[in-house]
Amino acid sequence: MSRPGEKRALWTRRHAGHHITTTPTGRRACRTCPINWPINPDSVARVLDGAPGDDLTIGERRVVVPILRARGLTGDQIADRVGCSDRTVWRILTTARQAAA
Ligand SMILES: [Zn+2]
Repeated sequence: MSRPGEKRALWTRRHAGHHITTTPTGRRACRTCPINWPINPDSVARVLDGAPGDDLTIGERRVVVPILRARGLTGDQIADRVGCSDRTVWRILTTARQAAA
């Protein structure tokens, strides 16, 4: 068992110099390392079912946004649903398109 502070220090070292943000739930998220964005399938399903998604992590948001877009929602509608700006919605969609290409 490691002390809680050790894991945090390790995380900080691993992401030194990266672009760090804090999720609405208070978790730290590295925008440089997409693999570290936690994704909870229950949260994703809940938001796809119509629940407000302002507590989604960045990783979850990136899953939800393209699905809502494929369902025909506008950028504004998606932004309202997931609790971010429409600019963020379009950035996510552009990134998703590039990843798929
Ligand atoms: Zn990182």
